[in-house]
Amino acid sequence: MSEGAAKKEERRKFQAIKGTRDLLPPETALWNRVERIAQEVFTSYGFGEIRLPIFEQTDLFARSIGAETDVVSKEMYTFEEKATELPSPRPFFTPRGYTPALEEAFQANPGFNTPENRRRLALLKDHLSTLEQAEVRRDAKASSAAYDHYVAVLETILQGDRVSLRPEATASVCRAYIEHNMQQLPQPVKLYTIGPMFRRERPQKGRYRQFYQIDAEVLGGSDAPGMDAELIEMVMTFFKRLGLEGVELDINSIGDKQCRPKYVELLRAELRKVKDKLGPDSQRRIETNPLRVLDSKLENEQKLIGGMPHIADHLCEECAENYRGVKKELELRGVKYRENWRLVRGLDYYSRTTFEITAKGLGSQNAVCGGGRYDGLMELLGGPPTRATGFAIGEDRLILSLQEAGKRPAAKGRDVYIAWMGEKAYTKAVQAAKNLRAAGFSVELPPVEQKFGKALGQADKLGARYALILGDNEVASGEWTLKTLATGEQAKFTEPTLLDFLQENNAV
Ligand code: ATP
Ligand code: MG
Repeated sequence: MSEGAAKKEERRKFQAIKGTRDLLPPETALWNRVERIAQEVFTSYGFGEIRLPIFEQTDLFARSIGAETDVVSKEMYTFEEKATELPSPRPFFTPRGYTPALEEAFQANPGFNTPENRRRLALLKDHLSTLEQAEVRRDAKASSAAYDHYVAVLETILQGDRVSLRPEATASVCRAYIEHNMQQLPQPVKLYTIGPMFRRERPQKGRYRQFYQIDAEVLGGSDAPGMDAELIEMVMTFFKRLGLEGVELDINSIGDKQCRPKYVELLRAELRKVKDKLGPDSQRRIETNPLRVLDSKLENEQKLIGGMPHIADHLCEECAENYRGVKKELELRGVKYRENWRLVRGLDYYSRTTFEITAKGLGSQNAVCGGGRYDGLMELLGGPPTRATGFAIGEDRLILSLQEAGKRPAAKGRDVYIAWMGEKAYTKAVQAAKNLRAAGFSVELPPVEQKFGKALGQADKLGARYALILGDNEVASGEWTLKTLATGEQAKFTEPTLLDFLQENNAV
């Protein structure tokens, strides 16, 4: 690289990484409004906020979302958390010498004393003993193989834990429920959380690599239909408060451990009959996860899929009863829904109610909320058997839809711009700014003196409602001039009457 090119490279402008974005004012005012209303509505339903770490052990997501899903197999941002406190093996170390040192380090660092690492340590010891026996037999081939095995296991230990940026929040909420023994609290525990999620997807409208979710989970308690219905009522109330347009709720029941496997087998058998007419993805899914074939958006598969058996006709009596109950409860609450038998979740721990909500103005990425019951997840993560149901709202899409419908809040300018001239006036202006801000007004105080004309122009550009004019005359007389910028009207006030006037004429 030439010197010039190197300099240029050094001064290169940085850009936000593909799939991430900056959210700027005034748009952030809409984000704040959405989050504030979520907090208000969710609080009125008895939810409390949980704040979670943004990265967790990769295994937590692999286990809860499923290692074969796209999210886990290709979309997670994963990195290694090196096990720096472990003694690193010197060159030419011997497994016999190193193993006890490693074991001691494990004892000293409770963080490494995980079930996974204990299993690896036991494996190391096995390889060590195989190695020693091979040496006694003078079996060079076997001893070299045992040595290689030993080193391979050692590498996984030294690599440390793999951690990932969270692609969703449910797994972390369940981890926290278990870790903090929340099953000892009055059940159910109702939690919500708002924050960024990360998935390495192809960026497009409504699909980003860093996106935001508003997530709510009901953990513990029963699976009474009223529980699912109330959760759905809550999210619909939230959308209504925001004025979200074209909201449609789809619901379905996907049965449970008792009845779903039979339906899946039936579906598989039916799909096999038309296998040749399906695309490669669906063909593969017939064997791996036939429910996911129902998700297919391929035009030429729709007719065939439309003819497949509906799960609603194959629910066991308990699940059918529960599904009827959920629908009745939704009607009781005045929540309109559409039954969609193709709305499924491919993972075993999901059960019964699933739902999805779409909104207007989003093109093909029109799902703003997905949710459902996941009674089996907590046990899968090592917790007590715990019923649970929840949803995740895509906040970016929610905001996009509001913006498309013109629901952006008017950019709020400053309430008061203080146009001052002269040193004495400045002293008064600083004090006035402080007092007005304390009373809740948004105030702009220019740090350097400007001619009044220029100051008023500036006030206009910032969208200020009033300009407070403070010059030598005003300070001397104690009568301050307030100009209403929209009308050009001017009036005189003393300091206390000014505050009264502003408070009367402006809801803070
Ligand atoms: P989609 O089918 O649209 O990819 P999903 O099934 O992957 O959605 P969930 O994992 O259920 O979505 O997440 C819940 C919500 O989060 C979605 O309904 C959507 O609004 C939002 N969401 C998911 N992935 C993204 C993304 N990459 N960018 C923006 N929002 C997203
Ligand atoms: Mg997705």
